[in-house]
Amino acid sequence: MSGGSLAAGQAEARAMDFSTTPEERAFRESLRSWLRDNLPLGWGTPRFPMPQEAGEKVAFARQWAKKLHAGGWAGLGWPRAHGGRELSPLEHLMFQEEYTAAGAPSMMDFGVGPALVGPTLIAHGTDWQKERFLEKILNGDEVWCQGFSEPGAGSDLASLSTRGELDGDDLVVNGQKVWTSYARYADWCILIVRTDPTAPKHKGLTFALVDMKTPGITIRPLVEMTGVAWFNEVFFENVRIPRRNIVGEIDRGWDITITTLSHERGTATPYARLRSEIDGAVALARRLADDSPRLADPRVRQALAQLRIEIDILKLNVYRNVSRLMRTGIPGPEGSMIKVYWSELEQRLMQVVSELSGAYALLDEHAPQAFDDGRWQYAYLWSRAATIYAGTSEVQRNIISQRVLGLPRS
Ligand SMILES: Cc1cc2nc3c(=O)[nH]c(=O)nc-3n(C[C@H](O)[C@H](O)[C@H](O)COP(=O)(O)OP(=O)(O)OC[C@H]3O[C@@H](n4cnc5c(N)ncnc54)[C@H](O)[C@@H]3O)c2cc1C
Repeated sequence: MSGGSLAAGQAEARAMDFSTTPEERAFRESLRSWLRDNLPLGWGTPRFPMPQEAGEKVAFARQWAKKLHAGGWAGLGWPRAHGGRELSPLEHLMFQEEYTAAGAPSMMDFGVGPALVGPTLIAHGTDWQKERFLEKILNGDEVWCQGFSEPGAGSDLASLSTRGELDGDDLVVNGQKVWTSYARYADWCILIVRTDPTAPKHKGLTFALVDMKTPGITIRPLVEMTGVAWFNEVFFENVRIPRRNIVGEIDRGWDITITTLSHERGTATPYARLRSEIDGAVALARRLADDSPRLADPRVRQALAQLRIEIDILKLNVYRNVSRLMRTGIPGPEGSMIKVYWSELEQRLMQVVSELSGAYALLDEHAPQAFDDGRWQYAYLWSRAATIYAGTSEVQRNIISQRVLGLPRS
């Protein structure tokens, strides 16, 4: 960071007020008591029958989404006119902190509807689209997936080649998407297709909403290295999408896509989750140190303390970003700094836990001797994805160098 930005950052840190208002404390308390009253009895305890298979997890998440909605805890940042609560980014952050501290069920896998589709439709959708889709996103009736990436288009999304051709009142789609998380369980999909192959690559794209039960859609699961198949390949063969499901104008879909991506790369971070992971790692190290003098080595303490410090640094950066967002209303490119930092920090954390566990790190949830029901092995493998989804670390570093540091493009 340049001297000027550093000085500005220090001034900002000095100006930051960390005290909480009575309203903020009341907000936290109302959420805490709602979670106490509504989490399933015994949730998170060893004897609670946690949903295991992907299908069970989806069914559970739908029910839980309904409960959150009925309790007024859905669509926190959405406008009231669309069923949301219009909470500020700070209240949103407090929600994440309390929700994670209570160990409430992760809804990360179902974030596409509320986090991406809702805000995109609120900004660009027709009245019919808002009426038809928004409430069902909030109340968990309809789960969405994101059909953006293709075998030849990931970071460079605008090079996608799935074709869409207008035929009467329908858009007819042919092509393939890949890495489509939980497409098998989704009711609807946001899809980007190329409608004008003669135009420059960012032009000639169209953004559409597809019912996943439409004839011509074939879904093939892809098993990840965790052993779970959340990913899918999705094939489209003469899939007919009614024109009213097109968002924005034909051939102008890139503008809509940018809105969706800005929400994906916005300020949400899993720092509250990492905070609870480090607590779990410290508890594991304490238990293991009783049996293994090697783990009483001060270097183990130092490694864990270093991670704890880095999580606090992440928290301060998130707070700074949220306070800037409250002032400007626009998520800035600084979000890329946070994305690189948390995703690589998560990988460092899982690496330390894996080294602490020694040979036991190889055991998965099915092995009776696995520590903490094998969750660390899953978390280690899953953490490898963090530097890829929502923009890879290399792409984020390009954004930081060009848009935050003002360096020239090579
Ligand atoms: C857990 C997970 C869930 C996902 N879910 C979905 C989903 O639901 N829907 C969906 O559409 N997609 C999804 N994706 C796909 C994701 O968006 C892509 O993986 C991502 O955009 C990267 O694209 P790619 O895999 O094609 O890699 P590529 O873009 O081919 O990149 C390959 C390598 O080249 C590097 N690279 C690429 N361009 C540059 C550049 N300009 N400068 C420097 N380095 C560069 C990348 O950083 C990377 O290391 C998911 C991915 C993961 C890991």
